[in-house]
Amino acid sequence: MIPKIKRQWCKGCGICVEFCPKKALALDDERKVYVAKPEACSGCNLCGMRCPDFAISADGGEKNERDE
Ligand code: SF4
Ligand code: SF4
Repeated sequence: MIPKIKRQWCKGCGICVEFCPKKALALDDERKVYVAKPEACSGCNLCGMRCPDFAISADGGEKNERDE
């Protein structure tokens, strides 16, 4: 699972980076979020729920299966 990012909506607040339990997200040089570790993302969508600007979402319409 890789969260979808609407780069132009991201204001670089870093909330999603802070709340991501897998530390999968980071801010780039322009203070826009990117998925630094796509393999670490569990698809929990905490980033999507926390982003005040709807700039990121891991809720692609699929149900998240357990990782095991
Ligand atoms: S879906 Fe969860 S694990 Fe993946 S980037 Fe968002 S907060 Fe992190
Ligand atoms: S919470 Fe939203 S606006 Fe803030 S850095 Fe993450 S994607 Fe960008």
